Amino acid sequence: MLRSAALRTMRRMARCEVCGNDYGMSFEVHAQGAVHVFDCFSCAIHRMAPICEHCRVQIIGQGVEVQGHWYCGGHCARAEGRTGIVDKV
Ligand SMILES: [Zn+2]
Ligand SMILES: [Zn+2]
Repeated sequence: MLRSAALRTMRRMARCEVCGNDYGMSFEVHAQGAVHVFDCFSCAIHRMAPICEHCRVQIIGQGVEVQGHWYCGGHCARAEGRTGIVDKV
C-alpha cells in the first residue's frame, strides 16, 4: 500500500516543467516553498538560475546578492556601484 502510493507520486512528478520531457530519472528542486521538477540540470538552470544584472550571464555558481540584486561575482557588483557585498555560500 505504501509502496504503490510512492510509485504513483513518482509517476506524477516525472514530467520536466521546462521541456515537458517525461523522463524516469527526473528530480525535484525545493526552493522558497515551491517544488520544481526537471529531467536534467540544463533545464533546472534555465528555470532556476538568476541572471547577473551587469553582464546578463546566468548565475550557476554561488553568485552574490546585494540589496536584492543578483550578480555573478564581486566584479560585476562593484561595476554597478554596489558595496557591502554578501557572499551566499
Ligand atoms: Zn527538461
Ligand atoms: Zn556578471
